[in-house]
Amino acid sequence: MNSANTLKSLTDVVRNIKRTNKTTFEVIVIGLGSMGSATTYELAKKGVDVLGLDQFEPPHTNGSHSGQSRIVRKAYFEHPDYVPLLLRSFEKWNEMEQISGNQLLHQNGFLYMGKPNHEVMTGLKNSAALHHLPLQSFTTETCKSAYPMFNVPSDYEILMEKEAGFVSPEYSILTFLHQAIQHGAQLNFNEKVEEFKSTKEHITVKTNKQIYQCKKLVISVGGYVQQLLPSFQAPQKITRQLISWWNVDIPNKFNEHNLPCWTLMHEDHPGIYYGFPMVNSAEFTSPFALKIAHHTPGDEISPEKLNDFNPQNELKKLTAIIDQYLPNTVQTLHSFSACMYTNSSDENFIIDFLPDTDQRVVIATGFSGHGFKFVPVMGEILSDLALTETTSLPIEFLRLKRFQ
Ligand SMILES: Cc1cc2nc3c(=O)[nH]c(=O)nc-3n(C[C@H](O)[C@H](O)[C@H](O)COP(=O)(O)OP(=O)(O)OC[C@H]3O[C@@H](n4cnc5c(N)ncnc54)[C@H](O)[C@@H]3O)c2cc1C
Repeated sequence: MNSANTLKSLTDVVRNIKRTNKTTFEVIVIGLGSMGSATTYELAKKGVDVLGLDQFEPPHTNGSHSGQSRIVRKAYFEHPDYVPLLLRSFEKWNEMEQISGNQLLHQNGFLYMGKPNHEVMTGLKNSAALHHLPLQSFTTETCKSAYPMFNVPSDYEILMEKEAGFVSPEYSILTFLHQAIQHGAQLNFNEKVEEFKSTKEHITVKTNKQIYQCKKLVISVGGYVQQLLPSFQAPQKITRQLISWWNVDIPNKFNEHNLPCWTLMHEDHPGIYYGFPMVNSAEFTSPFALKIAHHTPGDEISPEKLNDFNPQNELKKLTAIIDQYLPNTVQTLHSFSACMYTNSSDENFIIDFLPDTDQRVVIATGFSGHGFKFVPVMGEILSDLALTETTSLPIEFLRLKRFQ
């Protein structure tokens, strides 16, 4: 599929939307990043008079959605209850591709490498068995011949989820925002919400530029949740995550036709290491280099300190992993950047109504470094909650009551 729009053409259209001076809306969405862009689109599509507000111009590099690519997959090792939401999300990724004419999904597969009894491998196999999701098995030798870049120890299990792959977070957000505009949503950028208050009649939202009123509010502010909601009790920790890119000898060997997305579990390190193929089409941000990262909560930070750090320790760990598992592949470090996780204490999302708001304020937070693949289905769920106070999608395990 060839995309109808490039990252640049979509950016131009979305950034050129005229600021609205209207101050009364049915629903306001605070935060137009990953979850907020899809929610604003769903509301606008349903004919709702909706305003989306963001303190920056999404996509941007001060939140949780930067860095070129995000893995999408279904056989969820984290918790099998996510699988029905993922099945719906994949349907909606496909639906948005049809509507927009933009290719969003790149289904080049996802390769899992780890000891058979590692919790990620057992979680993966449980989820796949429970929901009848196919996994292809490799031996060390068949893996070597299909993907010669990997050096996998002989006691590792190697499994492939073929329908998995990746999306561009920046291009996806722009696609949702563009479609939201097409359906009549108002979007105000560079406008920071300072506070909101709900009375019996309406909710008042005060920004650094204006005061608005609405009937329902959706809050999807990512790593800034503690700044906007200092007394919100759900346990969350904001962490800085390093993303790295590396130079390789022959780039073509690492494109999406020759390299799946992958993850490996190294016994002595917490979390998992993962990587992507090299991408340079017009839907992706730069660089054109091999992306590798470590999924485990990094240093706890406040969001304004995101880019103020020394990456040496993390880079040392990544170099050791590359030397062991991708030997003779990588030449030198190309570049690195930082992005934020909002980790809930059990690493599951938090989707609910904000306490004491009479079910008029919806909160979506705690995406804990694995939320992007759910963007389309989160748009559906959050818009359902805002409009009808309920949803037919199974989200009970994500509600606040689990912390009580
Ligand atoms: C390095 C890294 C790798 C990841 N890899 C994956 C992956 O492979 N697969 C996957 O599924 N997920 C992955 N994730 C997780 C995923 O990207 C996040 O879960 C998701 O982006 C969170 O979306 P969000 O809407 O909560 O936050 P964001 O996308 O950051 O959006 C929040 C928005 O709210 C705005 N905002 C905040 N405060 C205010 C305010 N007061 N007023 C107005 N606007 C405000 C911000 O400017 C921002 O635009 C990864 C995350 C990181 C950091």
